[in-house]
Amino acid sequence: MKTGVYPGSFDPITFGHIDIIERAEKLFDEIIILIAENRRKQALFSLEERKEIIEELFKEKKHIKVEILDGLLAEYMKEKNHKFVVRGLRAISDFEYEFQHSTINKELNKEIETVFLMTEPKYFYINSSLIKEIVALKGNVKEFVPKAVENKLREKL
Ligand code: ADP
Repeated sequence: MKTGVYPGSFDPITFGHIDIIERAEKLFDEIIILIAENRRKQALFSLEERKEIIEELFKEKKHIKVEILDGLLAEYMKEKNHKFVVRGLRAISDFEYEFQHSTINKELNKEIETVFLMTEPKYFYINSSLIKEIVALKGNVKEFVPKAVENKLREKL
């Protein structure tokens, strides 16, 4: 059984992330959405809240699991014996950050292969920070996030 691990902050999950998950479903038998704290970003939702939101979205799909990462991704992969990391690429601006991370992960754990998937062009410019800003300014985000996520955002902001 092939498992793809999709790590990210998902604060909150967007249609861009979901597009990557749907593409990864064609490549892997099982997908683990692995929620991690990104130290460079101030989080809006707690890890547990993000986990609940994502679990609710994928509750019909038994091959999609949601976990919280505690520690290093390379160690998690080793412990669980998973080999494939999935990441999404939008514009060239993502490349350097992703390149650094996949190289470091490979250094820390030689077994890891990172698979990069491209999203639909219409999702190129979506990111969680932008969505939080739009909601805070009372804008419409229904084209960018599922309704349930939009509701959670409105409660928070
Ligand atoms: P991180 O803080 O780890 O970058 P994110 O939740 O911002 O976490 O992103 C997780 C992954 O999903 C990254 O590989 C990112 O490039 C990808 N991603 C985020 N938004 C999109 C999008 N709109 N289209 C495609 N990939 C995306």
